[in-house]
Parts: sequence; structure tokens; C-alpha cells
Amino acid sequence: MKLLEYEAKSLLQGRGIPTPLQGGVVRRLQDITPALKRAGKGPWVLKAQVLAGGRGKAGGVKIVKSPAEAKVALKGLLGLKLKTHQTGGAALTIREVLVESAAKIEKEFYFSIVVDRREGMAAVIVSSQGGVEIESTAQESPEAILKLSFDPDAGLPDFKARRLGFFLGLSVDRIPAFVSFAKSCAKLFCELDLSLLEVNPLALTPKGLAALDAKVVLDDNALYRHADYQKKADPEASAAEREAKKAGLSYIGLDGDIGCLVNGAGLAMATMDTIALAGGRPANFLDVGGSADEKRVIEAFRIILRDSKVRGILVNIFGGIVKCDMIAAGLLKAMARVKLKIPLVVRLEGTNVEEAKKMLSNSGLGLVPADGLWDAAKKIVELAKGS
Ligand code: GDP
Ligand code: MG
Repeated sequence: MKLLEYEAKSLLQGRGIPTPLQGGVVRRLQDITPALKRAGKGPWVLKAQVLAGGRGKAGGVKIVKSPAEAKVALKGLLGLKLKTHQTGGAALTIREVLVESAAKIEKEFYFSIVVDRREGMAAVIVSSQGGVEIESTAQESPEAILKLSFDPDAGLPDFKARRLGFFLGLSVDRIPAFVSFAKSCAKLFCELDLSLLEVNPLALTPKGLAALDAKVVLDDNALYRHADYQKKADPEASAAEREAKKAGLSYIGLDGDIGCLVNGAGLAMATMDTIALAGGRPANFLDVGGSADEKRVIEAFRIILRDSKVRGILVNIFGGIVKCDMIAAGLLKAMARVKLKIPLVVRLEGTNVEEAKKMLSNSGLGLVPADGLWDAAKKIVELAKGS
């Protein structure tokens, strides 16, 4: 789950990390004057609060010199649909604008902490070419980037933090402030189980280093350890995704028309690939987990059917620990309750598969059995076309 810039910045402030003086978030034109007052004397910066980077280039960040200018800028921002290189063609409506005192930037740096899966560690990434997209720096001048991994249990050691600071070309007198910044960020990253903490730009200003932007992504699988965030609704989740989360199912909506009900994440990925290979497009990723029992199957059907694009469903279950005949019984009970009007292809494999197939074909419920995943994918793609 992503946090908005002002939510991320309040986490940084809570750890003593310098950020520009905040005037707060405004949602209505009339709230601008007190917000400017709180942010001190101008100039100010007005920043669109949407869950995407690249706002600066797309016109979502405005520097203003007077209250009159601020009002005009705010009027332009509120309600604007912002498309950035990170929104994937979609436009995000600006409903909240952060007001801050504008910092005088002497130099912009890139700073982030990510999970380094290959090393099994956390890693800090810095670049002296801040402000711009790190992706293009990585392509064009990889030597301008330094990545150092650290053990999340031990935290970021001073010597690594210093090495990062010197790599950025900071003068010796700036190093202690940078070390303290980097270590506080690393601590925050580990304690909150983040998958990303990005400060771009980390700016050198006449008052010292300051985090001018902040992006935080929480690891959804660790939310249970953070009660306040577990309760928070993910603004990017669809209604179906929220319902699936409540039911303990892993579901991600996609834009195709073939619903998938699968046990196991790897098998779900393979199912989606095979559907694509057969010329179809999956409507979702759905992993019902290890126990594909009746209750979960019913819940899964309901969630898949909320999506009106769905023109066919492919059930692909591997009976390893759970037995196929038990799954078939659950499937039949679920089908009796959820009245399906679209084709359903079922591929079962594993323990007691023969009994299971007999149960399904004797049920008279009109589901289509398949032998193997390739057969199943071809069948559902064909049937969905006609439904
Ligand atoms: P992003 O484009 O979504 O990453 O939004 P940022 O918060 O990083 O803002 C984009 C750019 O706006 C930054 O790289 C800065 O150049 C500029 N900017 C942001 N805040 C300030 C500020 O307080 N003062 C000045 N002078 N520029 C700022
Ligand atoms: Mg930025």
C-alpha cells in the first residue's frame, strides 16, 4: 500500500528528519490563507497529493510567490486530472494539495531504500543526480548511482552511511547530518516493514539537508504487524480487492475477460500465462490458497463475478495436500449456490482426480472438464468468445 507524500513526510518528521515547513493539506480554495500562514513567509510550493511520482514534470508541483498566485495555482490544481509517466496512461484526480514553504535548492540528490531480494537484505540507493527519474540515470550513467545493502536486523552501519554521503560529494561538515538522515530512514524502513522509502529530491538547502519529497510503500503482507495501517483502506484497491482481502484471498483485478480461480500463486501465474498463450486475457489473478474448500470457493466465485467484464471462468486446482474429490464437492456446492450464467471450465489434477472428474461430469451442472492446463486454456478462451 502506497502512502501519499504528506503521510510519508509525517513519518519522516516523527523521526526528526528535516522537511520543509508544512502549511498542511488543503482540499478547498478557502483553506489556502491559513495554510500559507502556517508555512511561514513565501515563496511556497503547492503539491498535488496523488499516488504517483513524476508530478513535477506533469504540472502537479507549483512554486508561488504571493497569496494571490497561490490561489490561482490551487484553483488550477484542485479537481485537475493529472497524468504522469507513472500513472500508466490513467489520470488521477487531485483532491488534496500540500502547502509547504519552498526550499532554496542548492543541489538535489536521489535517496531510496528498497528490499534487495537477491541479497536477502535491505539496500540504500543514492545518486548525485537527484530530482530526475532514477530509471533514466540508471540507463544513461549507472556510475552516478551507488547501491549498498545492509542487514535489516543490524541496521545501516555508520561506515556505510558515510560512504554513501561521500559518494554524493557532500563536504565533510555535511556528513554527520547525512549519516543521521540515512540511519533514521533505514530504521524507519525496517521498523515499519516498508518495501520502498524514497526521498527524491533530498535537497541541500542553505539550512542543511531536507527531504523535499517522500514516497513510502508498505508491505501488504506485513500490515498485520502495524495495526493503524491494517485498518487504513488502500485507496488504490478496488471494491473487489478489498472484499477479497477480508475473505483472506489474494486477488488482483486485471483488464481481460476470463476469470481465474486457482490454488497457489505460482499456479495462478502459470494459468494467466497459458490463457494469454491461448489467445485470451485474464480478468484477474486469484489465489484461493492451500485449502480450496467450499466457503473459499463460493467467496472466490462471488468476487470474480463482481467484475462485469468476465465472460468465462477457468478453475485450475492442483490437489496436493487437499484431495481433488473434496475440491469437486466444494465446487459443486458452490455452483449450486452461485448461479453461473457464463461458461466454466474446470481442470483438476492430483490425488483422487478420477473420482473428482466423475463427480463433476455426473453433476449435470454443465461445467466443462479439461485434461491438462493447455486444454483448459484453449477451451475457456473459445467458450468465452461465444458467451
Ligand atoms: P515528483 O515530481 O512527483 O517526484 O514531485 P517532487 O516533490 O519531487 O517535486 C518535483 C520537483 O519540484 C523537485 O525535483 C524540485 O525540483 C521541485 N520542488 C519540490 N519542492 C520544492 C521546493 O520546496 N522548492 C523548490 N525550489 N523546488 C521544489
Ligand atoms: Mg520526487
